[in-house]
Amino acid sequence: RAKTDGRDAIRFFRPSMQRAADERLRLETDLRQAMEARRFTLHYQPQFDADRRVIGAEALLRWQREDGVYMPPALFIPVAEDIGLIQYIGDWVLEESCRQLREWDDRGLSGRLAGLSVNISPVQFLQPGFVDRVREVLAERDVDPARLEVELTEGVMLADTEGVAERMRALQALGVRISIDDFGTGYSSLAYLKRLPLRRLKIDQSFVRGIPGDRNNAAIVETILGMAAHLDLEVVAEGVETTAEFEFLRAHGCGAFQGYYLGQPGTAAELERRVQGQSASARQPAKAPPSPS
Ligand code: C2E
Ligand code: MG
Ligand code: MG
Ligand code: MG
Repeated sequence: RAKTDGRDAIRFFRPSMQRAADERLRLETDLRQAMEARRFTLHYQPQFDADRRVIGAEALLRWQREDGVYMPPALFIPVAEDIGLIQYIGDWVLEESCRQLREWDDRGLSGRLAGLSVNISPVQFLQPGFVDRVREVLAERDVDPARLEVELTEGVMLADTEGVAERMRALQALGVRISIDDFGTGYSSLAYLKRLPLRRLKIDQSFVRGIPGDRNNAAIVETILGMAAHLDLEVVAEGVETTAEFEFLRAHGCGAFQGYYLGQPGTAAELERRVQGQSASARQPAKAPPSPS
């Protein structure tokens, strides 16, 4: 490419662009190898109700490179989308999520870990046969479709709208629920909110940050909560990091919360311990302190 741009372009191309191209190539190679070697895992971030009780979780993809470094999904997912790997990675995420739901069910944890949200890339969602694949994976594990939530971003709504609506209705018919992730950050019309079968909106963490002190964010959050109430949509606030953010959201009718303030993403075992501790303390709430004798 640089050839046709002449001498200056060639000089400009090196060395920083060469380095970027090398890094990108290495990332692609590593990603393909990681897929083959199954070096991916899922972490789970709990979702809470207004009483701070766990009501479900979001599955978050983790890739630990051979050198031990954890690669952030925000860095490698766009690359996986570019090189056509996302459908394989995404399919693994779906299978692993359903396997985990089955396991929680078998161990009697389904009451507390009723729902699991899974991020679905637009590329994966628009793949022919996506809905059939979801149906198949749920059936293989004998998981109630109502326990699976598919998280889509607003970007999907911009694509070929009839195909998108049709797929969403097929998922709804299956019993799978749909939420809009990072709500408010995409450039899309709000018209889709009343047309499409949505269960909930996830308020992006950039709007949660600093409320109520940040007046602009507070106004945006209040508006989203008001609109969602009118449209009969549930809301999950993402990235809740402080008491102030949590209390403001709760006071304005937000029903579900996710964020470091309440719980970090962790392994399935960590989430289970947390849920079991919670159920145990709920069973014996009036446990008296040891009496002095
Ligand atoms: P997301 O779906 O919006 O997920 C929430 C992200 O916010 C996660 O980052 C989570 O660890 C982080 N987070 C949660 N609470 C807090 C908080 O209180 N403060 C801050 N600063 N961050 C918080 P993560 O795991 O790095 O994932 C980043 C993005 O990568 C996700 O954003 C999602 O878009 C994408 N992603 C993750 N897993 C998958 C997957 O399995 N498939 C696809 N297609 N995308 C995925
Ligand atoms: Mg998400
Ligand atoms: Mg999000
Ligand atoms: Mg995101």
